Amino acid sequence: MVIYHKRFLIWWGLSLFLCKLSSRRQLDYQFHTDGPAVLANLNRLAGTAQASRPVNQTLEYFLAKIGGAPIAGLRQQMVQRLIRMKALDAARLQGRFVVLIDGSGYLVFRSPHCDDCLTQRHGETTLYMHQVLEAKLLGPAGTVVSIASEFIDNRDAQGVPAGASQERVKQDCELKALRRLAAGLRAEFPQLRICLGGDGLYACGEGFQVAKDYKCDYIYTFQPGRLPALWQDFQGLLRLCPDQQVVWTTPRGVRQVYRWVNGLQYTDSDGRDWMFNAIVCTETKTDGNQSEWSWVTSLEVSHETVVEVATKGGRVRWREENEGFNTQKNSGLNLEHAYSHTCWAAYYFLLQIAHLLLQLVEKGSLLRQLAQEQGKRTAVELFGSLKNMAQRLLDSLRYWIWPKEAFDPAGAGAIQIRLDSS
Ligand SMILES: [Zn+2]
Repeated sequence: MVIYHKRFLIWWGLSLFLCKLSSRRQLDYQFHTDGPAVLANLNRLAGTAQASRPVNQTLEYFLAKIGGAPIAGLRQQMVQRLIRMKALDAARLQGRFVVLIDGSGYLVFRSPHCDDCLTQRHGETTLYMHQVLEAKLLGPAGTVVSIASEFIDNRDAQGVPAGASQERVKQDCELKALRRLAAGLRAEFPQLRICLGGDGLYACGEGFQVAKDYKCDYIYTFQPGRLPALWQDFQGLLRLCPDQQVVWTTPRGVRQVYRWVNGLQYTDSDGRDWMFNAIVCTETKTDGNQSEWSWVTSLEVSHETVVEVATKGGRVRWREENEGFNTQKNSGLNLEHAYSHTCWAAYYFLLQIAHLLLQLVEKGSLLRQLAQEQGKRTAVELFGSLKNMAQRLLDSLRYWIWPKEAFDPAGAGAIQIRLDSS
């Protein structure tokens, strides 16, 4: 019997995502003996001396045994390191990190999968699902760093009135998960100054209370339809303070008019009183198309800060959806693929760690310098696509014995990956 070191198996599992192999079985084909350098390279990454390669089932047994928690712990250590190094500081807003909260589908099955599946009926068919509420810290250079994850299952749907709409079920589940998520985040990062960002679902008593209980600021989307009376108050107060306006034209010629009210008051359905600031931004594109966005926030809003708050805190929400979940679903990381029917949480955290490592490579200064030497602006432009970059990494892992210097901590210490937009 061969015994594999846990560090080796973790690297084996991370490589599944780093090389975007898309399914666990591909490990057996891509990391087979026809990739002569795989074993040596992974041994040196892991600091191990394995004499043979595991099969994909070995990884599965290992992850089933340890579960997701140790891998979530590894992610936490990595994020803490990045924060301590101040690598993410350039993205702070009023001294705080913006942590975007968003729910997403994760796994969907057409037959019952486990006792905890959320169920959703679509006509004749029932879907069995697992969803996740993610907290993603917004870093510089368009990076998004998964910092906490809470899985949503049918226990969160308990207590929702029978016959409630799917929208209502989603909202109740996400608000319950939000409280667990914030509690976990605070326990792991007790000192971190956090501003929660989220869509209109969180702009309610519970969303404000969670922020208060866990000492976070917040910026939530203000949806007129969800808080109609408050929206009326907001409109009335806006008319009373016409000076609270900033007009700004973006480099692309989009005209933005920001208006805001300080100290808007709101009493929630449980009778709790809240006070916050509200912003509305009306945007006119060069073709005359208009759109409007609004937010409520505990951050300071003034002539000096309104554009920054709305841009860094509010507008970036779309970036999470694009950079975060969409990348993980569509770029070969294959988030919604069931890598395992039992220890899927462990794979989820491996994917998050791999995505973080990939972003440092894809968006960091190392490859950007290389690209610029070749007359290109970014690494993606140099290699053609993210998929091509993953292919190059796979080629390199399979066929090229990585040089000794690459593993020399003293030498590596001199190499810095900076995350800035320059
Ligand atoms: Zn299930």
